[in-house]
Amino acid sequence: MGPWNDPLYDTTRDLILRTAQEIGIDPNIAGRLAVPDRAIVVSIPLRRDDGTVEVYTGYRVQHNDTRGPCKGGIRYHPHVNLGEVTALATLMTFKCAVVGVPLGGAKGGISIDPSGLSRAELQRLTRRYTTEIINFIGPGKDIPAPDMGTNPQVMAWIMDTFSQTHGYAMPGVVTGKPIELGGSQGRLQATGRGLVYTVVDAAKHLGLELKGATAAIQGMGNVGYWAARRLDYRGTKIVAASDVTGAVYNPKGINLKKAYVYMQENGGIAGFPGAEAMDPTELLTLDVDIVIPAALGGVIDAKVAKKLRCKILAEGANGPVTSDGDAVLRKRQDEIFVIPDLLANAGGVTVSYFEWVQGTQNFFWSATEVNKRLESIMVTAFKKILKVHVDENLDMRTAAMAVGMRRVSEAMLLRGLFP
Ligand code: NAD
Repeated sequence: MGPWNDPLYDTTRDLILRTAQEIGIDPNIAGRLAVPDRAIVVSIPLRRDDGTVEVYTGYRVQHNDTRGPCKGGIRYHPHVNLGEVTALATLMTFKCAVVGVPLGGAKGGISIDPSGLSRAELQRLTRRYTTEIINFIGPGKDIPAPDMGTNPQVMAWIMDTFSQTHGYAMPGVVTGKPIELGGSQGRLQATGRGLVYTVVDAAKHLGLELKGATAAIQGMGNVGYWAARRLDYRGTKIVAASDVTGAVYNPKGINLKKAYVYMQENGGIAGFPGAEAMDPTELLTLDVDIVIPAALGGVIDAKVAKKLRCKILAEGANGPVTSDGDAVLRKRQDEIFVIPDLLANAGGVTVSYFEWVQGTQNFFWSATEVNKRLESIMVTAFKKILKVHVDENLDMRTAAMAVGMRRVSEAMLLRGLFP
């Protein structure tokens, strides 16, 4: 629709409007929530190492700041476009509300494949992008974090560019920073760890024993790898794993620490000797207890949703299910328990919030304290959404959206419409 034309945006908009109708949210509020507060589009000229200059397009979208400053990741990926970034910013608004952190939703990104860039090129790209959006971000305004294709080093460059421009160190402008620069203990693992807390609760609800259960992970990046490690710790066998290079399968369970070393040395999971190669397109529909999509959005359409055989679908990625796919999953609720992205991957923004709080107080917590607080927030959010799911007879995705939308719309009504 309009400038936001993108399948993920359409899916997100449908979910907002459908949920609003189902739970009776004021249509004026719902209409407002279907579009962002503001969207910034910038051009980023990048001098390559060979002296040539290429121009890339970057975005920062702030969806809603009613409950606090905007917060959201920065993605470097060739698919990045205005509609997708807007959809991801929108999801962030409701995700922050679902876990009860006082922040709004934002997202940013550059349409580029970062794997082809040297470290120096990546740094120049990041610093120029930061300069282009510098008036719109800040510790009390909008706080970026890592997402696909970005990492703590990229956050350090953003923090440095922002601080150099303002004349003093301002670590609070980003989260997901290296620990040495005021990053939080546990942030790197937070999304995967948080996801597994929700899987533990879902398994309890279903009477599924995690010890000896099986799981498949699509996308062995930050989220997928740490989710796999935490499940492995609880005795679940990770029988299949994939990334952009390919997929591997081992019915006895993949040795994750060895896989990690292999991926570092070889740039991906394909060819990992501790497992056999498999067709990546079959991973999501394997006969396993838990499936975790943790890569791109839109990977589960109606066709894939019909073929899913898992008991729990835990959405590490943002927007992995299309609208059509979701319609199928709603019909299959009794067979497949969905932990929607709004809840499943909210551990990342929760610990980002902790990092922001620690930074403003200049008082840092231990990893044990971070993880304890994270668990408490994830468990509380899971319980609340499960209650809405059961009491109001809503599927888990709509229940999560209902919790988020109610909190945001109540805050909007209290603040009123300006002017
Ligand atoms: P990442 O860049 O660390 O990892 C992404 C992984 O997906 C990589 O292993 C990549 O090879 C793989 N991948 C890419 N295309 C693929 C394909 N077609 N098939 C299989 N694998 C593919 O990114 P990340 O931070 O782990 O983010 C992954 C997802 O989780 C994204 O949707 C992101 O928005 C979401 N997410 C991330 C965080 C976070 O804290 N990092 C928080 C919430 C949500």
